Amino acid sequence: MSVDLEGIRVGLGALRDRAQVDVQNHWRSYLGDLPSSPPPLLPGGEKGSRIQNSQSPSLGEGFRVRAKDWPWAEANEKGYLVWERGEKVRWFWQTFTVPPHLKGYPLQGLQLRLCLTWWAADAQVFCNGELLQAGDLFDSSARVLLSAGVEPGERFEVAIRLVSPGHDIGALMRSHLRYEAPTGELDPGFVADELAVLTQYCQRFQPEALPKIAAVLAKMGDDPIDLAQLRTPLLPLAENLKTRCFYLMGHAHLDLAWLWDLPETYDVAERTFRSVLNLQQEFPELTFCHTSPALYEWIEQHRPELFVEIQAAVAAGTWEPLGGMWVEPDVILPGGEAIARQLLYGQRYTQAKFGKITQVAWLTDSFGFPWQLPQLLAQAGIRYFVTQKLHWNDRTKFPHGFFRWQAPDGTELLTLMSPPNVTGVMDTNPITMTNYSVDWEAQTGFKDIFWLPGVGDHGGGPSRDMLAVQRRWQASPFFPKIQFTTAIAYLDRLANQGRVNPHPPAPSPKGGAGELEIGQDLPLWADELYLELHRGCYTVHADQKWFNRRCEGMLYEAELWSTIATVLTAAPYPQKELEQAWKQVLFNQFHDILPGTSIPPVFERANRDWQAALTMGETLRDQALIAISARIQCPPRPGLIPFVIFNPLNHHRIDAMEFANMGQIYDSTGGALPSQGIKGGSMAMVALPSVGYTLIWADPQPLPLLPLPPEPVLENEDLRVEIDPQTGDLAQVWHQGRAVLRGPGNQLQVFQDQ
Ligand SMILES: [Zn+2]
Repeated sequence: MSVDLEGIRVGLGALRDRAQVDVQNHWRSYLGDLPSSPPPLLPGGEKGSRIQNSQSPSLGEGFRVRAKDWPWAEANEKGYLVWERGEKVRWFWQTFTVPPHLKGYPLQGLQLRLCLTWWAADAQVFCNGELLQAGDLFDSSARVLLSAGVEPGERFEVAIRLVSPGHDIGALMRSHLRYEAPTGELDPGFVADELAVLTQYCQRFQPEALPKIAAVLAKMGDDPIDLAQLRTPLLPLAENLKTRCFYLMGHAHLDLAWLWDLPETYDVAERTFRSVLNLQQEFPELTFCHTSPALYEWIEQHRPELFVEIQAAVAAGTWEPLGGMWVEPDVILPGGEAIARQLLYGQRYTQAKFGKITQVAWLTDSFGFPWQLPQLLAQAGIRYFVTQKLHWNDRTKFPHGFFRWQAPDGTELLTLMSPPNVTGVMDTNPITMTNYSVDWEAQTGFKDIFWLPGVGDHGGGPSRDMLAVQRRWQASPFFPKIQFTTAIAYLDRLANQGRVNPHPPAPSPKGGAGELEIGQDLPLWADELYLELHRGCYTVHADQKWFNRRCEGMLYEAELWSTIATVLTAAPYPQKELEQAWKQVLFNQFHDILPGTSIPPVFERANRDWQAALTMGETLRDQALIAISARIQCPPRPGLIPFVIFNPLNHHRIDAMEFANMGQIYDSTGGALPSQGIKGGSMAMVALPSVGYTLIWADPQPLPLLPLPPEPVLENEDLRVEIDPQTGDLAQVWHQGRAVLRGPGNQLQVFQDQ
């Protein structure tokens, strides 16, 4: 570290010490629940919000008496206070007394916040016996307001009840107190953050300015300080920051099924959406986006008055339906037709209910993206693709932030790698935002930065505190501009800037297509977007993969034959039934269901829906085939039985077919087809036209069985393959008289997935 940076670090630390106190090493702790503990909140109950005292559980006097004698909690090497996994409760307790000043800085009248970060399935924070805030694994940090204006000598007794996740250890990772001034006024912690932001930008883009920042902080000394005066000499340096702008949009990733199933999803969606609409009353600048017409449809049907409010927000431009797909599916396992259906039903719904289709595909969490996706998306009216998932790569840093993603057919789709969630909750912390923005600008050259505040995975969305914090920073001269946006407006803005990246990225790994092209501003990526993570998900929960493929094939057949039946026989087309079955399949293609990364109840429910879709497909297919068959002329042939065999594939095929209790098979003109007697019937080679049928005739007189060879052997002019009848292994393979194997071949091995 340079002398300047070290000086700045020390100076900022001294400034922060005037308004912040690390309290992580001063918790008393008790492992286990207490007889008089308040009941845990319902899952997701009152997430992220301050809780009305009248409704909240509270701690009695006896609690304090006991807590005083608890042992001190000891931190691990990372500074975390950890305990065992398996939904085990751990209490933490501490009292804070407000001193008149911190390192000479008077605290009278400042807000007091307790800033916490935890890793816990359930969290409750009590102050002076009353529950103030609750959270969970996803809503895992809080800036709990202990007082809106402290008095020296005032005491706060804080108790925290945390429950470790079932699958992981629990931790209280961070805890500190912050004394803060209201928006528009300065406090030492705020100014320290301002100068930290300035330092970050200068370090990367204007290093010659660092000595000036260091000099200002060095002059500060231990004397009482005038904060406005302190930062005044640095104001000219900060002017450059305002050439940058954070474009904010509230977001709440909501997994339709994961560590919970549908009833909870719908409950969380409703609360998230209501919370956003309420916050938009208080913060009219707030914009919000959400994907998944499947979820909107549920809200429309079950919470119609909420849906009307959402429609009004969409019309007003403060709510943006995104994605274009029915859900946020996995896009590796589904077939191309299913992805087309995701888009068809997704865009139709979006158009019908919100007035227009979306032009932004949004798959923040799906586990990798196939190369054909730009083509499929573009054909559904999509102009931009957004994901952040490749930030999760375990080895390779994905080289581009905003780029042209080109499919094999040449279709290009402008694609954005949106900001990663690196702190658990994507809030409006100015330091986190600055860290990202500096990297983004260095990578892409863009000074317009996308930022998506909001609690996610289990819904939640932006909190009041996130919005208040961004307002405070909007007013600071030491921070880029902040403006709320929609995804389409931000992406159009980037696309129209036509910038050339000042630091051209490395070529893409295949095809050499990653370089900048003459006359093209943005880098090109002509490959799949492979995710280096979640690799086992293609081999777990085989039932989901089996059902998906069967359903995709069956619904294709059902639609094909139903269409032909309607054209040929004027039978009614079962559009409603097909759409319902498709929607069941599309829903189960969600990125935690089809890949197999959810809890068991999710798969139990999913399997019922897969089965329903499959049965519906079979029923419709069979109805259509019966209707078509009824029109096929079968002149009687004495002693023979007619069969109509359909081929749904779009190519001609000749296949071996088995006929139970039959013998010789004849084609429609009476010619004998190659037929062979087998146990229980016969087998014949039948030719089938593409998307059509063949009429054949079968003689019920059995054919003689051919004797089986003594050893199971497959042989042609090149190869002779001997199979071990005991194990099924290949005993030997002969290639033109030469033994190929040194031992048994094709041995099946079974591994336990641990
Ligand atoms: Zn997800």
